[in-house]
Amino acid sequence: VSKTSRVVVVGSGLVGSLLALMLKKRGAEVTLLERRTDPRAAGYVGGRSINLALSDRGLLALRAAGIADAVAAVSVAMPSRLIHDKQSQVSRFAYGLHGEAIHSVSRGGLNIRLLDLLDEHGVDVKFGWRCSDVALDVPRVHALDAAGAAHVVDADVVIGCDGAFSQVRQAMRKTDRFDDEQTFLAHGYKELHIQTAPSWDVDGLHIWPRQSHMLIALPNLDRSFTCTLFFPFEGTPSFASLHDVAAARRYFEETFPDALAHVPDFDAQWKNNPVSSLVTVRCYPWSRFGKTMILGDAAHAIVPFFGQGMNCGFEDCRVLVELLDAHDDDWSRAMPAFERARKENADAIATFALENFVEMRDKIADPAFQLRRRVEAAVARVCEKDFTPSYTMVTFRPQLPYADALRQARKQDAILDELLKHEAVRRNPQSDDHNDLYRKTVAAAAC
Ligand SMILES: Cc1cc2nc3c(=O)[nH]c(=O)nc-3n(C[C@H](O)[C@H](O)[C@H](O)COP(=O)(O)OP(=O)(O)OC[C@H]3O[C@@H](n4cnc5c(N)ncnc54)[C@H](O)[C@@H]3O)c2cc1C
Repeated sequence: VSKTSRVVVVGSGLVGSLLALMLKKRGAEVTLLERRTDPRAAGYVGGRSINLALSDRGLLALRAAGIADAVAAVSVAMPSRLIHDKQSQVSRFAYGLHGEAIHSVSRGGLNIRLLDLLDEHGVDVKFGWRCSDVALDVPRVHALDAAGAAHVVDADVVIGCDGAFSQVRQAMRKTDRFDDEQTFLAHGYKELHIQTAPSWDVDGLHIWPRQSHMLIALPNLDRSFTCTLFFPFEGTPSFASLHDVAAARRYFEETFPDALAHVPDFDAQWKNNPVSSLVTVRCYPWSRFGKTMILGDAAHAIVPFFGQGMNCGFEDCRVLVELLDAHDDDWSRAMPAFERARKENADAIATFALENFVEMRDKIADPAFQLRRRVEAAVARVCEKDFTPSYTMVTFRPQLPYADALRQARKQDAILDELLKHEAVRRNPQSDDHNDLYRKTVAAAAC
């Protein structure tokens, strides 16, 4: 199979669109099948968050595809988290050590930009085509078009980028020794749109941490905000315990008064906007017969609390193309190399994402945790080469594999535990008096 392979990509979401573009640019004949209608004609129906955080891993992949600048131009830089307490006081915490930022982008806008580029490059995109099954070894895709007519599409390679509930993965389930696990969170989410909130800064990701749950808001280019409530399905409080709109409104009055003040149509939005679930997918292997594979959420959906699902999927695209280069476009070698390289990284970011939920909704407002973060920043300043905060490793070190970041984070946690035993460190972490202690403790952990 050569560069000019006939590739069928299933799913023109963010990852499938980027991958199709990258493969087309290297000379493949690409057909993209998408069950939804064309969002440019019908209006974007994302079914997922309205905006999302793009960071350096995603940008690195977009750069490899030659489209990073166009995307950066329509994003809003967020160098800080802005924490809203119950008294509506807002505190600012920088994401990076040197002013680095993550970027809020419109999911629909980004997807449409990628689809326009696919048109420009002559990729054949079939909207309204739903993949119903895949013969993995041929490989052959069975699809139904919008009118219900059945089609068969043959290819050299089939790639499932069809999201967390992938039909291509479903076909792999029927094969021997295919592990597939999906784990739902006890929390779901509901989005609320804020047309304008003049008193809120737009250069940050707003968070209302409330222990068992949280509200977040990301700015859009037009200075509106998209809020997402991550809330338990059951228990008190929960989506189940807020029986009607009046109960939800009362809850917001008590818990998120400064957010509620900016949602004049709260009642309608609460009633009409759906509650969606959050799933982690862990499966393996990700390819069969060297002919069919899955990537993006289809292979490794994660919860959104590190803002990395799309970024990780974009990184998949970059790594796959690099491996095709390294293996002379021999897909039967590139596919196993890809899954071997990526699996532990996908598992690592899934772990980071689950742990960050507890951090965002609960620990971030806890003084003991804030002290830990201050010590972390102080050690990072003194031992810049050997100690990097986890958030920085995941978000701003795109060449560092997620799995290495997780291993390093575990070591650094032990270092922080050790340093926090010192009363003087707890009193004033930034003092230069501790520099030797920081250096010695980091050096000892490296041995
Ligand atoms: C609330 C929330 C917030 C998030 N925030 C962030 C964030 O800030 N940063 C970040 O990096 N990630 C974030 N994510 C994760 C991100 O949304 C996903 O990782 C990303 O969308 C995965 O892209 P994908 O193309 O793999 O899958 P999807 O976006 O799910 O796209 C799959 C596509 O396949 C199509 N499809 C499905 N089945 C078929 C079929 N049988 N036949 C044909 N087509 C099919 C679908 O219609 C869809 O277009 C968030 C997720 C959620 C839920």
